[in-house]
Amino acid sequence: MRIDILSLFPQITEAALGESMMKRAQEAGLAEIHSLNIRDWTTDKHHTADDAPYGGGQGMVMKCEPIFASIEAVRRPESRVVFMSPSGRPFSHALATEYSREQHLVVLCGHYEGVDQRVIDHLVHDEVSIGDYVLTNGAIAALVFVDAVVRLIPGVLGDDQSAQDESFATGLLEGPQYTRPVDFRGWRVPDILLSGNHAAIAAWRREQALAKTKRVRPDLLG
Ligand code: SAH
Repeated sequence: MRIDILSLFPQITEAALGESMMKRAQEAGLAEIHSLNIRDWTTDKHHTADDAPYGGGQGMVMKCEPIFASIEAVRRPESRVVFMSPSGRPFSHALATEYSREQHLVVLCGHYEGVDQRVIDHLVHDEVSIGDYVLTNGAIAALVFVDAVVRLIPGVLGDDQSAQDESFATGLLEGPQYTRPVDFRGWRVPDILLSGNHAAIAAWRREQALAKTKRVRPDLLG
């Protein structure tokens, strides 16, 4: 999959997506991620990317011209153009799974007060929100979005099984996990995990996951 992230702060996405699993996914050729600066498509000498809102009001709005020029330069017929926005569709595991099957994602990041509505009306396919709060900068949301999508591309997680077992994929939150030592400050790992009885361990894990989901996210149980 190819992903082009368009923002005013490409350093943010480049740095974070150049580490750990995202770095490995790119080295393995499973994802090709480019962080591009919308300002590179401005044509005036001050490289203006934003302007005051029509009708008055606070802050600045990102202008149409550089955004259209940048996206038109990178998009292809099969591209999906996603705008990170607090007024978008709520992001979820289900959406991440859908996007992980795309060939080319163009991720547009707003800044200031947002972008001119004509970008949303005539250029963007989907608006996606990563949660009910407002960030200062869409590049931060794009990091979350791209990480969640890329880790679902087959082969990115070392063991394909691990994406299937974890929180949300099963419809439940993940239960507790332990590693060595067996006894830490008197807090012991539950005996069942040391029993070697795989069926009993699987049943215990499911029970724990269900109990946690009931307690923390009863909405997931419908
Ligand atoms: N005035 C806008 C907020 C702009 S925040 C409003 O009230 O809706 C600046 C940029 O940060 C947005 O354009 C968007 O790209 C990004 N952003 C902020 N919060 C976000 C969220 N919850 N999900 C996705 N993107 C977000």
